[in-house]
Formats: sequence, structure tokens, C-alpha cells
Amino acid sequence: MSFIETEEQQALRKAVAAMAANYGQDYYLEKARAGQHTDELWSEAGRLGFIGVNLPEEYGGGGAGMYELSLVMEEMAAAGSGLLMMVVSPAINGTIIARFGTEEQKRRWLPGIADGTLTMAFAITEPDAGSNSHNITTTARRDGSDWILSGQKVYISGVDQAQAVLVVGRTHREGNLKPALFVVPTDTPGFTYTKIPMEIVSPESQFQVFLDEVRLPADALVGSEDAALAQLFAGLNPERIMGAASAVGMGRFAIGKAVDYVKTRKVWKTPIGAHQGLSHPLAQNHIEIELARLMMQKAATLYDAGDDAGAAEAANMAKYAAGEASVRAVDQAVQSLGGNGLTREYGIASALTASRLARIAPVSREMILNFVAQTSLGLPRSY
Ligand SMILES: Cc1cc2nc3c(=O)[nH]c(=O)nc-3n(C[C@H](O)[C@H](O)[C@H](O)COP(=O)(O)OP(=O)(O)OC[C@H]3O[C@@H](n4cnc5c(N)ncnc54)[C@H](O)[C@@H]3O)c2cc1C
Repeated sequence: MSFIETEEQQALRKAVAAMAANYGQDYYLEKARAGQHTDELWSEAGRLGFIGVNLPEEYGGGGAGMYELSLVMEEMAAAGSGLLMMVVSPAINGTIIARFGTEEQKRRWLPGIADGTLTMAFAITEPDAGSNSHNITTTARRDGSDWILSGQKVYISGVDQAQAVLVVGRTHREGNLKPALFVVPTDTPGFTYTKIPMEIVSPESQFQVFLDEVRLPADALVGSEDAALAQLFAGLNPERIMGAASAVGMGRFAIGKAVDYVKTRKVWKTPIGAHQGLSHPLAQNHIEIELARLMMQKAATLYDAGDDAGAAEAANMAKYAAGEASVRAVDQAVQSLGGNGLTREYGIASALTASRLARIAPVSREMILNFVAQTSLGLPRSY
């Protein structure tokens, strides 16, 4: 692993940062508060090849890897306009379809995912199976060559923006989970959704999804019908790396806002940033974000080298570290701005709720600690 990014990676970072600067947090919050989507940003990112940078060239992607996609996510979030659908559409779904889809599925879905003209949501969480995915009850049964899918999902991001959703179901109700993954177009009869009112200021919403005897053709199934655990896991490392990238970017954004402010705000002789009560915690935040970013880059490097097991440990650690660092950085940024930290004008207070997401989704802090305790340390499970 090199600590020096290639010329291409440096150029990509610059290009994404330049694009994202034209949008930024004001645009992001304005759209969120108006109940609108960030269509312009999504389309431009797609047109410039940023969304599909990790997907194979032959299907319209950039032919690079998760390192590059996480770099895109990080720079967009660092500009104050990180988009959750980047985690879902190209990282989870794009990866799963590129690795396990049929030739026809790849040709049908990947070019649109890559250029952003098609957004695909991802649905695994269920009301009675949150952190415990083994409990999911969304079930698929055969009817001739068709599949009939029934069940319920919750907290599914961006369903209203998506043309299709990759739904994680199962073909057997009993026993250990053998997931089966289905691409469900959002206009399929029997597929409905309702918005969940959330306290996050975000242009991307979460939905409860109902699948009522949804009839799907045979080729809706991605991968094998009852041994798709490997397929599902293929999407998890990218998901965690992108979760980390989003949090690293948000942390950078918060620290940047705080640093700009404390450099000029004066209530005594010196700018308030000279007081170590403010400069030390900000320096600490910067260190923590840099460390989390390094682990994220390690995870992406291992993943791109084909080391799924090595990437899993690093991706979980990166997601954990980035989530914690980001929550602390946002908290310190609000504190550094005093009263202005809580005003709408300065726009940092809205990140308080948003930053907590990195501790909860796509996998919670506690479930990562469970993973590390069991896998890295070999400790027994309590559940
Ligand atoms: C904004 C947002 C967007 C989301 N987008 C999507 C999406 O697009 N698609 C999707 O499928 N899901 C999505 N989710 C769901 C998300 O992945 C879940 O919320 C998350 O996995 C936690 O599940 P839960 O909410 O049911 O919490 P629970 O599983 O009920 O957990 C509640 C608490 O208990 C802890 N806990 C549970 N089990 C253990 C244990 N064994 N040991 C220690 N602690 C434990 C958890 O860590 C957590 O702190 C989203 C969630 C949010 C908030």
C-alpha cells in the first residue's frame, strides 16, 4: 500500500472537490428543507463519471475500484453535500451485480447506475430484523418461472428517487438465512412505500416498503437462489468503506467550518482559536479523522486487491473509527462556534443529527464491536 496517491487519484480528488464546491452545504440544506432531491448534483456526478468510477468499463463504469469511489464520497461529504445513495447504488448494488449478475443483468442495470441515470436502492432492514439480518422474513416463492415476493422493509433510503430496489429476501422461511437477492423495479404492482418522518435534514428520505405478492420474472434474481450469502457479503465491505468515507468527509467539513471561524472570531486579545481549550480538541479531531481515513484507505486497498477477509476487518474498523471521529468533530465544531453553532445561518447544527447516522447505519457501532471482538479477538458471542 502506498501512502502517495497516484496522479489519476489526485486528479480525481481535485475534480470531485471542484464539482462539489459548486454545490456545497447551502445547496444540500436548501434542497432538503424544500423537500427536494439533489438531482443536479447527482446528474453532474454521474455525467463526469464519478458515481460509477468503481464499476467495470465495459458496462459504462470507470474501471477503477473502491479506493476511487470512497475518495469521491469523501470529497462530496467534505464539501457538505455527501449523498447516501452513493453508498447504496454504485457501492452495494453496483458491486453485487458486477460480481454476481448475469451478463444480461449487468447490461441492463450497470450503465445506468454508473452514469447516474438510474438509481437503485437497497433493502435489507426489516422491523423485526434490524441488526439481526438472519431474522428477515421477506420471502420469495416460485410460481412457474416467476418469483412471488412478500414482506416488509424499513428505513430504506431513497426509494422515491430509485427506479429499482435490490431486495434481500429468502426462499426458505425456516433455518439459517440463505439470502436471495432480487431487483424489484419500483413500479412493479404490489410494491408500495411510505415515507418515515426523520429528524435528519437531508434531501434523501427513508421509507417503509411493503411487498405484497410482488410478481417478478426469473431474471430478477441476482446470483443463486439460496446460497447468496457470499453475494450479499460482497456488498458489505463496499458499504462499510463508503460509510467510513461519508463520515470522514463530514468530519473534515465540520473541522473546516470550525477552523475558519475560530481563526477570526475575537472576544479577547487573540482570535479564540489561540485558546488551547479550542485548538487542542480541534487538533485531536483532525488526528482522529486522519487515522480513520487511513484505515478506510487500507480497507479499500485490500478490497481492490481481492482480499475480502482482510478488507472486512479493516472496513469494519474504519467505519467504527470514522463514525466516532465524525460525531466528536461535529460536536466540537458546534461548540467552537458558540451560539452561532446552533443557528441555521452557520449550518453546522444540522450535522449533529446527521453525524449520528454513522454510528447507527449501515451497521451499528455495537455490531462492529461484536465483529471485532469475535473475529479479531476470538471472543465468544453473547447472542
Ligand atoms: C438514515 C438511515 C438510513 C438507512 N438506510 C437503509 C437502507 O437504505 N437500506 C437498509 O436496508 N437499511 C437502512 N437503514 C437501516 C440501518 O441499517 C439499521 O437502522 C441498522 O442496521 C440498525 O438496525 P435497527 O435500527 O433495527 O436497530 P436494532 O437492531 O434494533 O438495534 C438497536 C440498538 O441495539 C444494539 N444492538 C442490537 N443487537 C446487539 C448486540 N447483539 N450486541 C450489542 N448491541 C446490540 C444496536 O447496536 C443499537 O444500538 C438506515 C437507517 C437509517 C437511520
